[in-house]
Amino acid sequence: NGPAALLRVHGLRAGYGPARVLHGVDLELAAGEMVAVLGPNGAGKTTMLRALSGLVRGRGSVLLDGTELLGRAPEEIVRLGVAHVPEGRGLFAPLTVEENLRIGAHLRPAAERAEDMRRVLAWFPVLRAHLSQPAGSLSGGEQQMLAVGRALMTRPRLLLLDEPSRGLAPVATRRMFDVLRAVGSHDRVAMLLVEQDARLALEFTSRALVMESGRLTVGGPAGWPQAGRRPSLFRPGR
Ligand code: ATP
Repeated sequence: NGPAALLRVHGLRAGYGPARVLHGVDLELAAGEMVAVLGPNGAGKTTMLRALSGLVRGRGSVLLDGTELLGRAPEEIVRLGVAHVPEGRGLFAPLTVEENLRIGAHLRPAAERAEDMRRVLAWFPVLRAHLSQPAGSLSGGEQQMLAVGRALMTRPRLLLLDEPSRGLAPVATRRMFDVLRAVGSHDRVAMLLVEQDARLALEFTSRALVMESGRLTVGGPAGWPQAGRRPSLFRPGR
C-alpha cells in the first residue's frame, strides 16, 4: 500500500438486515484523485457510498488518513472530512439556495463560514444569482451544482458523488464535471463518483472501477485508457 493514499478501504462488507450487498470491497484513493465507479443496477455502488459515509453499517476497515471511519456516526464522518452528495441530491426544495448552503456549513467553525461561502460561490457563480430563491425553483443542473456546493461547504477531503449527471442535459453535465475536476486538482479533494455514463466517467476521471455483485474490479470499456492518460492501477488491499 502506497503511503500517499488518503482513503484505504479493506474488506468492506455491508448490507440491509440479512441481505448482504457488499462482499469485501478493497479500494485506495489518493488526495486529489477522481475515480469513477461503474457497474450494473443493484451491484452495490450506492450502498458502498452509504457505508463510507456511515449511513449504513459497514464491517471491515475504512481508513481516512489513518483514522477508522467504520462505527462512527455520519455527522462525525462529515467532520472528519467526508461529504456525500446523495442520489436525488437531498436538497431542501422550499429553502433558499443560501439556506441550503448554510446547512452544509453548520459543522464548520463559525468564523470560517463566510470564507467557505465565498469559495463555493466562486466555484459556482450561477448560484450567487439565485441565493434568495427556493432551491426547488432552480434548473436540474443548478440544483446539482447546489448539492455539490453544499457538500463543499463542509471543506471535505473526500467527496462522494452518487450519479451527479443523472437527469442533466449534456451541457450541464460537462459544466459540472469541469468544476469537479477543477476543485479536485485545486483543493486536492479526492472524489469517488458513481456514474452510469461510462464515456463521461472515463473522460473526466483518472481511473474507473467496476462494481459487480458487491465487489470492485478494475474496469472500463474497450479502448480505455484513452490516449494521453495514464491511469494508476487499482491496488487491492492486502
Ligand atoms: P443502482 O444504480 O440501481 O442504484 P447500485 O449499484 O447503486 O444500483 P445499490 O443501490 O447499492 O446498488 O443496491 C444494492 C442492493 O441492495 C440491491 O439489491 C438493492 O435492492 C438493495 N437495497 C438497496 N437499498 C436497500 C434498502 N434500503 N433496504 C434493502 N435493500 C436495499
